[in-house]
Amino acid sequence: MCNSTTSLVKLFLIKMKKYNLIYILLICIGCNSQNNSNSKTDQKRSKYKISKSDIEWKNELNSLQYYVLRQAGTERAFTGKYDKNFSEGIYVCAACQSPLYESSYKYDSKSGWPSFDRGITENIEYDVDYKLGYARSELKCSSCGGHLGHLFNDGPKSTTGKRHCINSAALIFISKK
Ligand SMILES: [Zn+2]
Repeated sequence: MCNSTTSLVKLFLIKMKKYNLIYILLICIGCNSQNNSNSKTDQKRSKYKISKSDIEWKNELNSLQYYVLRQAGTERAFTGKYDKNFSEGIYVCAACQSPLYESSYKYDSKSGWPSFDRGITENIEYDVDYKLGYARSELKCSSCGGHLGHLFNDGPKSTTGKRHCINSAALIFISKK
């Protein structure tokens, strides 16, 4: 009787050890995957020189700028303040002030959005966007990742043949004068 109780206790202890081990293992796996997901988020954050949280962007930008730059939205055609602006100067990113377009690259595409035949290459990132169900070349600010607009191949043939179709809300114009 006593023996069988002892062996039962032993068996119980062995099982407990086994479960403890499994439990410890599960905790370790959990920690590891959490670490992995944290480092993935960090990588995502550190891809751009200028990296801010969604709340910080929301506080710094007006609602249209936030919608365009951070949510890849598009302002309505012919409503942007720079569509018909042909003054001499430079267009910088409205979120991080990185120089994106020279006024000499701008032309009147009559599309209703500011259009440029090229950008300041090193400050612009090309991405692909499937928002409308097909691939479009998306243009972003390479310093902060802000969405600027899209790239089309119907630009002036006399120069590059490209059209950078950009939202006014993504830009701030700095006049040379
Ligand atoms: Zn930017």
